[in-house]
Amino acid sequence: MAGRILIADDVATNRIVLKVKLAAAQYRVSQCDSAARARSMARAEEIDLMILPPSLPDMDGAALCRQLKSDPVTAALPILMLLDHNQSAHRLAALSAGADEVMSYHFSETCLLARVRSLLRAHDTDRELRGRDMTAREMGFAEAAPVLHRPGRVALIGASPEQAVGWKSGLRGLSTHGISLMGRSEAMQLSPDQPAPDAFVLATGHTGLNDGLRLLSELRSRPATRHAAILMVHGADADELQATALDIGANALLEEGFDPAELALRLDRQIRRKRDNDILRNSVESGLRMATIDPLTGLFNRRYGNHHLARLAERAARNQRSFAVLMIDIDRFKTVNDTHGHSAGDIVLAAVARGLQDNLRAVDLVARYGGEEFVVALPDATLPDARLAAERLCRRIAALPIALPDGGQVRVTISLGLAMGSAENGEVDALLARADAALYRAKSEGRNRVCIAPTARLTEPAGPDQGCAPLRGPLRSDRSSRSA
Ligand code: GH3
Ligand code: MG
Ligand code: MG
Repeated sequence: MAGRILIADDVATNRIVLKVKLAAAQYRVSQCDSAARARSMARAEEIDLMILPPSLPDMDGAALCRQLKSDPVTAALPILMLLDHNQSAHRLAALSAGADEVMSYHFSETCLLARVRSLLRAHDTDRELRGRDMTAREMGFAEAAPVLHRPGRVALIGASPEQAVGWKSGLRGLSTHGISLMGRSEAMQLSPDQPAPDAFVLATGHTGLNDGLRLLSELRSRPATRHAAILMVHGADADELQATALDIGANALLEEGFDPAELALRLDRQIRRKRDNDILRNSVESGLRMATIDPLTGLFNRRYGNHHLARLAERAARNQRSFAVLMIDIDRFKTVNDTHGHSAGDIVLAAVARGLQDNLRAVDLVARYGGEEFVVALPDATLPDARLAAERLCRRIAALPIALPDGGQVRVTISLGLAMGSAENGEVDALLARADAALYRAKSEGRNRVCIAPTARLTEPAGPDQGCAPLRGPLRSDRSSRSA
C-alpha cells in the first residue's frame, strides 16, 4: 500500500536517511524544513502521513502537531513524531499534542516501516468509513450521528495474572474506563450478542511461542472483537515481534515498564477512534436499512423491489424459468381513512402487509410500492401456481379481522393484477405495467379479485386463464364486534 509521506526536518541528513528507507519501500516522499511549509503543504496537497521532528526552526514539533490537529483541513492527517530521547515524558508530551505515534530517532528500519504501514492502514480505514457515511448522507438516507463519548470497557490480558494486576493498579486514578482482567479463553469465547470490550491490552507472551500474537489474530478474526482497539505490550528489543503485531492488527505498542499515563492516554485515543468508527459503520448500516425498508410496514420498498425483480428476470433468462409479479392495491382504502382516521389506516396497512407476508413462501418477496399498493414477486412460479397464490392472498386478506385501537375491527379487500415473467418476457417496467393494467381491470370489474394480464405476445383478448376471478364481498367495516 503506497502512500505519500511528508518528512519535515531541518536537518538534511535526517531527511535523507528517512527518505532512502521510505522510498525503497515504494512510498512517495516529499520534504520540507520548516513548520510554515509543513503546514501549507499539509493543507494544499494530498498527504497520507507526516513525520515530524521534536523541533523545527520556526516552531516546536509538539506545537505544530497541535496546530495541525486543530485545523479541520489537516486534523485527520496521521502524524508520526520522532524523538531525540525516548523517555516517557517526551513520548507523553508528543502524544498529548496529538501525535498518532512516537518513536526515537534510533529506530530500526523494521519498526519504522511497520509503524508507517499501520498508520497508513488506520488512516485508510477511517477515510473509507467517513467516505461511506458521506455518500449515505448525500444520498439522503443517513443522519449525521451525534458523537457521545461514554467511558469504554477495557480488558487486560497479561502473560500472567500478576502482570495484568500491575497494569490495572497503574491505571488507578488515570483512566475513567471500566477496566477488568480477562483470561485468554474468556476472550476467545466472547459472542457478538454480548457487549464486548472496546479495547484489549495484551501481552505478547512470555513463553517464546508468541501466544499473544496468536490471540491478537484470533481477536481480529472474530465478529465480537474484530473492531476492538488492541494495545500490545512487548519486551525490549523485539523489533520483529513489534512489526508482526502491527501487521496483524495491533493498534498500538507499549514496551514493558511503560508509563501508565501513556497507556491511559493511548486507551483514550484508541477507544475514541473505535467508537467514532462504530458510529460511522452503524450509520451506514442503518442508512442502508432506511434506503431499502419501508418503516410503516417493515416491507422492502419500491427501490429494493425493482432491484429484486431485475435480478429475478436475469435469473429467469438464464434458467429458462418463469416467475410471476402481483400488483396489489387495497380496495376503497380512502374510506378506511375517512371512517376511522389516518392512524387507523396506518394500522390497516401494516396488518395487510403482514397478512400478505404470512401467506407467501419464504422465497417470495413483498414490497410496498406506494401508499396502499404492494408488489409481490414469486420466483420460479408457473401461471397455475401464481394464480393459486394470488387467489389465496385475496381470500385471506378479505377474511382477516384487523383490530383498531378504538376497540373496533375492520376488514378490507384487495384487488390483484398478475403478470407472468419469462426468459423472453422479463423487462421489469413492462412487467409491472402489465400487472398494473390487470389490476386496473380487477378494480373496474368489481374489486376483491384477481385479474391476469395477457402474456405480452398475445394479441387476442384474455382467454379463460387471463380473466378475472371475483372472490368475496366489498369492504365491510365491522364496528358491531367492538368490545364494550
Ligand atoms: P380503490 O379501490 O380504487 O383503490 O380506492 P382507494 O380509496 O383505495 O384509492 P385511492 O387511490 O383513491 O385512495 C388511496 C388512499 O390511500 C388515499 C391516501 O390517503 C391513502 N394512503 C396512502 N398512503 C397512506 C398511508 O401511508 N397511510 C394512510 N393511513 N393512508 C394512506
Ligand atoms: Mg386503493
Ligand atoms: Mg392506490
